[in-house]
Amino acid sequence: MKSWSCIENCGACCRFDLAERDNITGVLSSKDIALINSMTGKDGWCKYLDKSKRKCMIYETRPHFCRVNEFSKSFKSYLKNGDGFLIDCCKQHISSIYGRKSIQMKAFKTAVSEK
Ligand code: SF4
Ligand code: SF4
Repeated sequence: MKSWSCIENCGACCRFDLAERDNITGVLSSKDIALINSMTGKDGWCKYLDKSKRKCMIYETRPHFCRVNEFSKSFKSYLKNGDGFLIDCCKQHISSIYGRKSIQMKAFKTAVSEK
């Protein structure tokens, strides 16, 4: 069985467009949405992403919705499908940001298939 894994040099999920994430808005509070809006730059990317390194600059104190292992439990699809749900979410993010044939997609597929 495949296990979800985050890869380095990605950050595809750190670009927010809540209009495209209808599966997430249902589990976010109005406080969470306000926080997301305050974290989002004009270009749509989180202000706390170091874009040159594609790394979170506030990793230790990042909000709860950035903590995949905890936040995933809020989704019925995760409770039903487990890591398969997380893998699909990452593929969607990576595909929309970098493309289906990107090096990030290749690295992600390798990471989740090796487990
Ligand atoms: S899209 Fe997935 S692999 Fe990429 S940074 Fe986010 S959680 Fe990690
Ligand atoms: S706080 Fe960190 S993990 Fe969360 S979206 Fe911003 S850069 Fe990504």
